This record gives sequence, C-alpha cells and structure tokens, in this order.
Amino acid sequence: GLIPVSVIGLGNMGQALAATFLSAGHPVTVWNRSAGKDKRLVGNGAVRAETAAEAVAASRIIVVCLSTYEVAWSTLMPLKTTLVGRVIVNLTTGTPDDARRMSAWAEEAGIDYLDGAIMAIPPMIGSPEALLLYGGRKELFEAYQPVLRLLGGNTTYLSEDPGVALLHDLAMLTMMYGAWYSYFHAHALLRTAHISAEVFLPYSSNWLQQLIVPMLTSKDAARKLDEGDYATDISNMTVNKLGLDNIVKSSQELGVPADWLLPIQAVADHMVAMGYGNDGFDRVIEAMTNHRAHG
Ligand code: NDP
Repeated sequence: GLIPVSVIGLGNMGQALAATFLSAGHPVTVWNRSAGKDKRLVGNGAVRAETAAEAVAASRIIVVCLSTYEVAWSTLMPLKTTLVGRVIVNLTTGTPDDARRMSAWAEEAGIDYLDGAIMAIPPMIGSPEALLLYGGRKELFEAYQPVLRLLGGNTTYLSEDPGVALLHDLAMLTMMYGAWYSYFHAHALLRTAHISAEVFLPYSSNWLQQLIVPMLTSKDAARKLDEGDYATDISNMTVNKLGLDNIVKSSQELGVPADWLLPIQAVADHMVAMGYGNDGFDRVIEAMTNHRAHG
C-alpha cells in the first residue's frame, strides 16, 4: 500500500494538505490541538489521533503545518524519540534560521527533516499550479518526491540548505508588501482630488504592466543586478532622488503620510552624496547587502 502520512495541525492549510493525501489513497492520521477540525477528514477515512505523539507514531511521513515555529517546537520537541526514523516535512512559516535550527536539531537526533514553503492558498493545494519549495537533503527530497508532489504540480527542490525555502517565501512576500502598501499610498493621494480606484485603474494597470512588471521580471535586469552592473542611460540615481523628494513633499502637502518612503529617500540621498548620482537606482541594493553572508 501507499506510505502512511500524518498531518499535525489542521488549520485552513493543514486540512487541505490532509484532504489531498487522503484523496490520493494514502493512509492518513491527523491531529489538531482543538477538537472538531478533523470532522470532514475523519468522515473521508482519516484516523483521528488523540495526541500528537499518537499521530507521529502512526506514520513514516510527518507533515507539520502549525501557525508558528514556536508552536511547532513545543509540539515536536517532546516527541524526539518517537520521531527517530521518520521524516518531518515542516510546512510551517517561519524565518530561514528557524528552519535551519530545527533541521540541525532533527539531524542530531537522527530524524529526517525537510523544510518547505507553500506559495499557494488552501484551495490550490493538489493542483498542477500550486508552488511548493523545499530545502534540505536532496536524497530525502527525491525519496519522498512522489508523495510531496501530490500537494502541488510545481513542487520544487532548491538546495541542501534547509533555510532556502523560507528565504524564497520571505523574498516573495517582501515584494508583495512593498507593492501592496505602495498601492494604498497611491490611492490615498488620489483621494485628495476625489479620484476613485476604478477611475484610476486603466492608468495604474497600464503603468504596472507596461513598465513595472517588465522592469522587475526582465532577465537582463536580473543579470545586471547579479553582476553589480549599475550603469544606466535611462534614469540615474540623482533623478530618482529628486523624484522621491517630490513624492515625499507632495504627500506631506496633501496630508498623506509618507513615512514608509523616508528610509528609501535617505538611501538615495546617501548614494548621491557618495558620488553615485550617475548610477542606476539599483545601486540601492548595496546599502542592504553584505551585512551577513550565508552559506
Ligand atoms: P490556521 O490559523 O488556520 O491554523 C493554525 C494551526 O496552528 C491550527 O492547527 C492551530 O490549532 C495550530 N496552533 C496554533 N497555536 C497552537 C498551539 N499553541 N498549540 C498547538 N497548535 C496550535 O493557519 P493556516 O492553516 O492558514 O496556516 C498554517 C501554516 O501554514 C502557517 O505557518 C501559514 O503561514 C502557512 N501557510 C498558510 C497559507 C494560507 O493561505 N492559509 C499559505 C501558505 C502558508 P487550533 O485549531 O487548535 O487553534
């Protein structure tokens, strides 16, 4: 038969994970701190474990999807001896160092460990489009790949470093909040002249698609960034600094808080003061790298 899988944590995501293993025919054991969330799963053939220890003892593969690493630590730490000889597939969101620490703990204890990041929402789990990223021992990933791939067609192994899945997650979410928050700032500015989001939409949509997205997704830009090639004949640091100055000043005049832009403005000022006024804006990355190299 198929490998037994236990799912620890039946929040929105844990339930989707367990349901997917179940529909693929795996024997599934589930555990959740509070009662009731296993109802539909048990109805579909999952076994309810009364304790996390019981869930761990029931399967070879232990999928963990809890709200934080703190919760994951307090759940798994007492079960160390029971976990030996099994594989933890930790899909809990945390920091890259959280993942590295837990992986080191597991390795020392003789527990196999893979760390994953789910770049999808619960309804996407099990679909060909769902992206799940993994770090950890490659041979382990390869051994369990057929089971892991059930959760998403875009299941991808990244590296031996168990922190990289969450590092990718972090990078993507950082881009999301930067873009997202700026979107609200823009609309707060527009509201000072009673311009609605719907009226602005054709312009913002065109701006994002014709300019911003190509700028952030071009192979050439990625290569230049990797090479530290900041030359530009399109728009230099000085003109971008003046642009930021104008956004901050305008926002202040219009009564829209622009505090989140101040550190960006300060970095651009600093770059110009350092003599990089003719370089491209991409040189700002120099102000945030080399603080801690890893790997
Ligand atoms: P939910 O809030 O729906 O579920 C949280 C889970 O953590 C529940 O099982 C909850 O148990 C458990 N939990 C919280 N505190 C404790 C505790 N002290 N002891 C034991 N169990 C505890 O969250 P999600 O399922 O949405 O998210 C789970 C993980 O998946 C998170 O790390 C999240 O970042 C990640 N994720 C979620 C995505 C999503 O779209 N939902 C997308 C990508 C990743 P109880 O039911 O008893 O409260």
